[in-house]
Amino acid sequence: MGGATLLKETGPREVFCGLTSIVWLHRRMPDAFFLVVGSRTCAHLIQSAAGVMIFAEPRFGTAILEERDLAGLADAHDELDRVVKDLLARRPEIRTLFLVGSCPSEVIKIDLARVAERLNSVLKGRVNVLNYSGSGIETTFTQGEDGALKALVPLMPATKEEQLLLVGTLANAVEDRLTNLFKRLGINKVASLPPRESIDLPAIGPGTKVLLAQPYLSDTARVLKDRGAEIIKAPFPLGAEGSRLWMEAAARAFKVEESLVQSILEPLTIRAHKALEPYKKQLAGKRLFLLPESQLEIPLARFLHRECGMELVEVGTPYLNRELMQPELALLPQNTLVIEGQHVEKQLDRVREKQPDLVVCGMGLANPLEAEGISTKWSIELVFSPIHGIDQAADLAELFSRPLHRRNLLNNKTLAHV
Ligand code: SF4
Repeated sequence: MGGATLLKETGPREVFCGLTSIVWLHRRMPDAFFLVVGSRTCAHLIQSAAGVMIFAEPRFGTAILEERDLAGLADAHDELDRVVKDLLARRPEIRTLFLVGSCPSEVIKIDLARVAERLNSVLKGRVNVLNYSGSGIETTFTQGEDGALKALVPLMPATKEEQLLLVGTLANAVEDRLTNLFKRLGINKVASLPPRESIDLPAIGPGTKVLLAQPYLSDTARVLKDRGAEIIKAPFPLGAEGSRLWMEAAARAFKVEESLVQSILEPLTIRAHKALEPYKKQLAGKRLFLLPESQLEIPLARFLHRECGMELVEVGTPYLNRELMQPELALLPQNTLVIEGQHVEKQLDRVREKQPDLVVCGMGLANPLEAEGISTKWSIELVFSPIHGIDQAADLAELFSRPLHRRNLLNNKTLAHV
């Protein structure tokens, strides 16, 4: 497939779980609440990932499963009903309640789908109760978003109207800019999933053409297809080239005149290439190793190689959906090593052996690698940053040049003291 060599690896993993995605989902849909059914560990994870919210009452929480629940001594269902009742009485503005499964709730086999069904019949449409899994046993952190969006799909009304549906959380400002560009291309009906309000769900049907903004939404793409939508095949909108190809693919799907497309996208591309220049100078020739965590690794590798001149040592990805990723794989250089899955110890041995200039990895691995003198970039930062679109290409490159710059400063400082 393309120029890449695809291999699989299994073994111990070192990734954040799907609960982490609550941090960006709750910001996107302020009328939704995410109730994790989990342990104190789960509560600590989202509290520390999201930071303490001082000015707003948080839109997520944890129904703590105590030892008695875990030992099967108490009825966790009763307890959960009580927590939900209290929460909804206190927070009448909640319109959608996501019950989010965790490792502990899966281990004791709480059937959250059944709980959601029961609560929905009691609440009679006042609040929609949905469920998905964020458990670390089966998800990495971006898959939490895939689960949440998939859970929303059955609530989307049906339509036959022709429309473009952008799927995957984007920063609001980026979404506005992209929607505006599509409108200039003559694609006037553009909707988004997730929407900005959880009850403002877009309609879906045979006239819907889906453009995935994020590469980790395999399950959501599948259920959207089941509702009659067509998935537009394209690379993902990271970097000037990827974003342009992404927009061009949508324009082709809507039969937009080629000359109009080029007249709108060419000036943006020229501007982006100019803005990329200083970062390209810092990144070109540097060796990059991506450990699997976010599923953004393949589009990032494509951008950092083709537009910033980095050499790809290894590209890890937790999962590989070959169909969705085919346009990306086709753009990788010949013989790029793409490894699906993880055996963290073997992978770290390869990092030490190859001594790359930069490693993209999870927070848990970054500190030990930094201590060994290897520069790192946290993959989680990429989902919190507005990096999509032609205009954002330089900002994306800057995220990778920053740790190299820092390492240079440190090295120079050390030399000055020798
Ligand atoms: S869901 Fe599992 S991996 Fe995630 S915080 Fe809870 S116990 Fe840890």
